[in-house]
Amino acid sequence: MAKTAIITGSARGIGAAIALRLAKDGFNIALNDVSEKSFENNDIMEKITALGVRCEKYIADVSSHEACESFVKKVREDFGSIDVLVNNAGITRDGLLLRMAEENYDDVIRINQKSVFNMTKFVGAVMLRQKSGRIVNLASVAGLYGNPGQMNYSASKGAVIAMTKTAAKELGSRGINVNAVAPGFIKTPMTDKLTDEQRDAMLAQIAMKRYGEPEEVASVVAFLCSDDAAYVTGQTIEISGGLSM
Ligand code: NAP
Repeated sequence: MAKTAIITGSARGIGAAIALRLAKDGFNIALNDVSEKSFENNDIMEKITALGVRCEKYIADVSSHEACESFVKKVREDFGSIDVLVNNAGITRDGLLLRMAEENYDDVIRINQKSVFNMTKFVGAVMLRQKSGRIVNLASVAGLYGNPGQMNYSASKGAVIAMTKTAAKELGSRGINVNAVAPGFIKTPMTDKLTDEQRDAMLAQIAMKRYGEPEEVASVVAFLCSDDAAYVTGQTIEISGGLSM
């Protein structure tokens, strides 16, 4: 029986690339995003179903505990099992510390960090009963090293790395591996918002002198979801073209 993967925030960007890659690897796919509008003008569902796997989309705000509970219940009813969870949904609300509005701090923590708690709790319960599963969290180099203008984002991603280790320790004995990836600068709508000055500053620090592609994040996530990574858990793999060494 084909395995099922949930990828949060997968209408576009890195999430969509991960969904497509896992579909190519034979997983049935549960797509998620915050609104129907997120799926407008994109063909991610068509691309996935063309690969011959099952694909459904679920509208849910993953920062809501209640919404995650019903979302996970529905996926379980529709697909029977949940074998992979990729906690990908995330936002930025950048600004220097002294000018950062409280709302922008709280929104980023709620969406980037609390969503990981919500989804890991409800999917973790399903995986515990199955005695198997893979969870991959999208962290960031900002969570490892900090980044000026991203106090909120760095805090959320640093927490995601700590949550990855905690979940790995709690769930490891039941056949559930939990890992994180920490991308550097990847070309997506999220990084389109940066100024040319910010991009140039980032590029100067990258050993490979180019930005990453969403597919280059997806391939590492796919490895962590594969049998080849059976003895890897609690780890954070940096995907940054050598940004920080
Ligand atoms: P993106 O292009 O902005 O895509 C993020 C997706 O998450 C969007 O489709 C967005 O939907 C969705 N989303 C936002 N809030 C949500 C919510 N509450 N519930 C469900 N879905 C929600 O971002 P990306 O660049 O692909 O980033 C994906 C992940 O990688 C994020 O966690 C990000 O922090 C991490 N990351 C990215 C980079 C990079 O360079 N791009 C680097 C390091 C880490 P709407 O926009 O329709 O609201």
